[in-house]
Amino acid sequence: MPFRAPVDDVRFIFDNVVDFDKVAATDRFAEASSDTVDAILGELARLSEEVWAPINRDGDTDPAMLENGVVRTSKGFKEAFGALAEGGWLGLSAAEDSGGMGLPLALTSAMNDMLSASCLSLGLNPLLTQGQIEALENHASDALKAMYLPKLISGEWTGTMNLTEPQAGSDVGALRSKAVPNGDGTYAISGQKVYISWGDHDFGGNVCHLVLARLPDGVPGTKGISLFMVPKYIPNEDGSLGEANSLRVVSLEHKMGLHGSPTAVMEYDGATGWLVGEEHKGMAAMFTMMNNARLGVGIQGLGAAEGAYQKALEFALERKQGRTPLEGKGGTGAIADFADVRRMLGEMRADIFTARSIALACAVAIDMGHATGEAEWKARAAFLTPIAKAFGTETGMRVSEMGMQVHGGMGFIEETGAAQFYRDVRVTAIYEGTNGIQAMDLVARKMMDKGETAFALIDEMQAFTETARASCDTLAEPLWQAIETLREATEWMLAQGDLNERFAGCVPYLMGFARVLGGYYHLKAALAEGGEGPRSRLAAFYLKRLLPEHAGLLAHATVGAADLYALSIEDLSA
Ligand SMILES: Cc1cc2nc3c(=O)[nH]c(=O)nc-3n(C[C@H](O)[C@H](O)[C@H](O)COP(=O)(O)OP(=O)(O)OC[C@H]3O[C@@H](n4cnc5c(N)ncnc54)[C@H](O)[C@@H]3O)c2cc1C
Repeated sequence: MPFRAPVDDVRFIFDNVVDFDKVAATDRFAEASSDTVDAILGELARLSEEVWAPINRDGDTDPAMLENGVVRTSKGFKEAFGALAEGGWLGLSAAEDSGGMGLPLALTSAMNDMLSASCLSLGLNPLLTQGQIEALENHASDALKAMYLPKLISGEWTGTMNLTEPQAGSDVGALRSKAVPNGDGTYAISGQKVYISWGDHDFGGNVCHLVLARLPDGVPGTKGISLFMVPKYIPNEDGSLGEANSLRVVSLEHKMGLHGSPTAVMEYDGATGWLVGEEHKGMAAMFTMMNNARLGVGIQGLGAAEGAYQKALEFALERKQGRTPLEGKGGTGAIADFADVRRMLGEMRADIFTARSIALACAVAIDMGHATGEAEWKARAAFLTPIAKAFGTETGMRVSEMGMQVHGGMGFIEETGAAQFYRDVRVTAIYEGTNGIQAMDLVARKMMDKGETAFALIDEMQAFTETARASCDTLAEPLWQAIETLREATEWMLAQGDLNERFAGCVPYLMGFARVLGGYYHLKAALAEGGEGPRSRLAAFYLKRLLPEHAGLLAHATVGAADLYALSIEDLSA
């Protein structure tokens, strides 16, 4: 069974779960009519099914290689990227005056979902390019915008983000790359960056690196960092490619998965760069790209889960292993009829719906923030971003791991492709801020408003659930209780003045929050269907079997730090 893009699920969530109609009702996104959305989703489905999915295995078996200093990409990648670019899809949400379509990020998110499900390693390239477009739109000078945006939007050029250095991973402020003014408005950039995704390729055009570096008068830490555009080829005034810049790919990393994505060690040796935003304010500018990418990476996890689920379902419907409990009762005769396999398929499906709903709710909040300028929407978007990133990627890992389990021994054998999903998606929980860092952001920065944003979401969920009791009490009651537990855990978090007390339980808190959000979105789906049908049955499954996880998670979240440090390093080493 070939890959099928999840268009129906996206459309259902848009219409019934995340209120996409609010976005389409704004002046800014008036173009996003129902017909337009359908047409775009249909085109992207075709591209992901017919062009991207067939090359996914090639990315694994024919990895990107560094040959004589030049990166050669996997078979079919250049053509598949070209097809995406030709459709103008890189600029789906980019500003119209630079050649973009100016459509909502929710649509771009649906696109990233399909691209990630069909070929995660290639999908990372447009994700980074989209993030760079947004960073330049918001922070670059008019001259830089005029030079770079049209070419990034058309896909003629691609973008990267360069933060990480050997000694500066999560602690970006420890970076040592230097920028020295050349006296002509440009800067000389020197230093080594590691793990740079799509640091080079053979698609043609330019590779545009956004590089964080410190000016001579930059103070130590994140406050002294500036952001620079450092292109592989220095463009001539007319935008044609000029001389090669002083930068090179030193090597490509050998990775567990995601082999189709070249992960480069980059050396900058006095390379010419242009300042993006203000001096010493590089982190603020880079945050635009990172925030965009955080949601995008959550969607990578979700997409990989979708791909893994489809493969596992296909296998479970074909593989026969003796008598099943449904024999003679209209069953399939295959392993999908065994209770434990049915449980795994149900968990996979239910959590894909949860992760997709959270991601699209986050994208809708971002769009509403842009369209209305309202602080509440911006705060909602900022709050949901770390949840979307961490839960989406955890779902990617859990579902792809379960997908291997459904395959039995064949899951461990590479030719089925089941293991590739797990190997490819594993890094998504690590890059773009590890999931631990996301959870710390949620309980610290995202609660600096004294929990106003968190409680607004909790109140919204509880009001909806209260109303739902009248028609659907069996589903609404356990959810109402779970929301109460989440409210108490949130109050506990806010009562901890010492942030380390919060950090000691931040990951289970984030996961517990996502579990409760999942209950809310599943309940909405069930009600939209009138309480009967496949979505209602999936909701019942989720609320009975997965929602209860919130209790353990939130109990874990509110223990504090003392017992962690009571467990000494000697204890851990004994
Ligand atoms: C395949 C791949 C592609 C990548 N692509 C890019 C890219 O395109 N551009 C780019 O700039 N970078 C990229 N990265 C780098 C990536 O963003 C970093 O690996 C990530 O930010 C973590 O940094 P680190 O590896 O140094 O781990 P560390 O920061 O050393 O973290 C190790 C562990 O310590 C934890 N930890 C660290 N600090 C804290 C803290 N303060 N509190 C609690 N826990 C903490 C982490 O959560 C983690 O579990 C990529 C990495 C990989 C593997």
